[in-house]
Amino acid sequence: MLAIYFSPMLLGLMLLLAIAVAATALWYVSRPYAGPAFWMASGWTLILGVMLFIGFMVTGSPVLNVLGNAGQLAGEALFLLGIFRFLGRPLPLWIVPASVGLMMAFNIRYWVVDGNSDFLLGVYSTIAGLLPLQAIWLLLHSRADRATRPAQLLVGVSLLLYSGVTLLRGYHGYHDWLLDRPYIPPHQSFSYLLPYNFALPALVMGFVGVTLMTMQRILASSREHEERAQRLATRDELTDLLNRRALNAIAERDLARALRQQQPLCLAFIDLDHFKRLNDNHGHSFGDQVLRIFADSWQGQLRASDVLARYGGEEFVLLLPDTDAGEARILLDRARASVAAADIRDGDVPVPLTFSAGLAQAQAGDDVDSLLGRADQALYRAKTSGRDQVFVWEPGAFAAAPGTQASSQR
Ligand code: GH3
Ligand code: MG
Ligand code: MG
Repeated sequence: MLAIYFSPMLLGLMLLLAIAVAATALWYVSRPYAGPAFWMASGWTLILGVMLFIGFMVTGSPVLNVLGNAGQLAGEALFLLGIFRFLGRPLPLWIVPASVGLMMAFNIRYWVVDGNSDFLLGVYSTIAGLLPLQAIWLLLHSRADRATRPAQLLVGVSLLLYSGVTLLRGYHGYHDWLLDRPYIPPHQSFSYLLPYNFALPALVMGFVGVTLMTMQRILASSREHEERAQRLATRDELTDLLNRRALNAIAERDLARALRQQQPLCLAFIDLDHFKRLNDNHGHSFGDQVLRIFADSWQGQLRASDVLARYGGEEFVLLLPDTDAGEARILLDRARASVAAADIRDGDVPVPLTFSAGLAQAQAGDDVDSLLGRADQALYRAKTSGRDQVFVWEPGAFAAAPGTQASSQR
């Protein structure tokens, strides 16, 4: 018992216990992220393996020896499976029965046929040292999942260290076997100092690495969610243009600034012509596609301060700060010509697309509603005058026409 107390084995067991508890906590806080469940299982299986092995050292029971070695290899294999799971790769489940089965076969042979412990140590270390190679290769080479890349490298390097030390231990075992060295009890043997002094710390580093990997993934995905949530609040999903709510906020700010600084500002209401007919003739999803094409067609035509928003349905609003009605009209006419000339096709059938726009320039006393109202009146005129045109709101031009939107001048 004293031999165990003063060997690095007890310290090793305590380290493993710390790993297993930490891995359990990691699993608990990171559910349902993939990977930590395997690392938790790995930690506890390693402990089970080491305890069985210590049991063997105390009692000399062959059964505990076989089960202890098998348990430790199973624990290691589970750790590696967790990495595959984390990276979304197919699980090489076969590594568990393969490594455990091979070890048990040699371990039983050791007790029944040939009792050379150095050779058995060589076999154990060869299996344990080669087992991580597949995962190491994956970790050091995979280019995917950039958010967790730094931690992946840490895990890869830790496993490489673990593997190197373990193979060195194996070499030591074969070496002593070939030279027919006398038996040394495990706790006095250099071959046992190697894993506890060097391989186990590498494993601790590996566990820290997988924890970091998981944390990096959680951070990255929460950042992604956050961005998506904001985007959803301000963007129209179909066209990726700003939505009505975002437009209102920006228009309010820009309009106030324009009026304060006495700079021109224009707002245009844009409505696609006969869009219902287009839907009826070509289907709603084709209509969706056309809305997207229309939104994209504005790219490169607007300044950074200009805002095109989807106001609803097939209606759009264009906000043009520092632009007077003359300049805005030129811009809209150019856009109208380029939309009319766009080669939109449903299969082989060309689909003509035009829009009408109503344009209004900000004037003293305006708020966003009054400006939108005038642009809407101008749009109405563009529609009733035959569509495919831009109509500029002018004082006096909308006085009459009862029953039309023009009469509801705000
Ligand atoms: P007008 O030239 O007078 O504007 O005729 P219109 O057919 O475009 O006008 P109306 O407002 O009557 O119809 C708008 C159509 O736009 C009806 C609606 O089904 C379609 N629409 C609205 N939102 C969407 C959408 O998100 N996707 C598709 N595909 N169609 C939409
Ligand atoms: Mg409409
Ligand atoms: Mg329309």
